[in-house]
Amino acid sequence: MNTWNDLKYKEVLVVDNKNLAKDAYILTFKRTFNFVAGQVVGLGINTLIEPRLYSIASGENDDYVEILYTEKADGKLTPMLSLLKKGDKILVSSPFGSFTENNDSPILIATGTGIAPFISMLKSGKGRAATLIHGVSFPDYFYYADYLEKELGDRYIRCCSKFYSTDYFNGRVTQYIQEHQVDPNKKYYLCGVAEMVVDTRDILISKGIPYRNILAEIYF
Ligand SMILES: Cc1cc2nc3c(=O)[nH]c(=O)nc-3n(C[C@H](O)[C@H](O)[C@H](O)COP(=O)(O)OP(=O)(O)OC[C@H]3O[C@@H](n4cnc5c(N)ncnc54)[C@H](O)[C@@H]3O)c2cc1C
Repeated sequence: MNTWNDLKYKEVLVVDNKNLAKDAYILTFKRTFNFVAGQVVGLGINTLIEPRLYSIASGENDDYVEILYTEKADGKLTPMLSLLKKGDKILVSSPFGSFTENNDSPILIATGTGIAPFISMLKSGKGRAATLIHGVSFPDYFYYADYLEKELGDRYIRCCSKFYSTDYFNGRVTQYIQEHQVDPNKKYYLCGVAEMVVDTRDILISKGIPYRNILAEIYF
């Protein structure tokens, strides 16, 4: 975690804080910096609570920055983020991070809000012919689904673990990967909580993907 002293923080005004689904929001503010898709910012509401890191979910050239986040009921920051309204002030760091490498036809694998850096990459015109595998517990959390269906078509693979439907793969991302063929020549980008990233990486390695072809961003 970054403390207030590590990075430069600026006050910016909230433009929108849209509730997408239970406990899931997109926070929007005007872009005042350049960044590379895949990078994160530190975010806070005042200097009394340590800032937290969030992947940028908008495109490199978009006028506004979008942050996709879920409220953790017992968390310190997100219950306060969820109360933000248009015109409220937040503190935002300069962008940083190195989860930014891009290749053609990558395999992007995310759970929950871990989809954010991939949305940024796609909206920035990167990762040509990408395949995206997104795992969620309930279908309401298929964030940006309309955009992804349009952008990726059959290369947008949805996995849902707790609500049965014929519309998507029923089960976790790890189960999907276990049951399907993988291509050792492709790059695999993983983003989400530690357990998913570690389990997915282990499965990919066991299926012959070289370690150097797996890149990961862990949301701890
Ligand atoms: C590189 C990176 C990018 C990220 N990007 C995103 C993103 O795009 N969207 C997003 O929603 N999140 C993202 N995160 C996670 C985010 O930074 C916060 O951790 C998250 O929003 C929770 O913040 P909080 O202050 O509400 O909860 P916290 O107060 O940090 O608590 C989070 C959870 O951990 C538990 N917890 C807290 N302290 C302890 C402890 N000492 N021991 C055990 N459990 C504890 C709490 O009970 C709670 O359930 C990212 C994290 C990283 C590292």
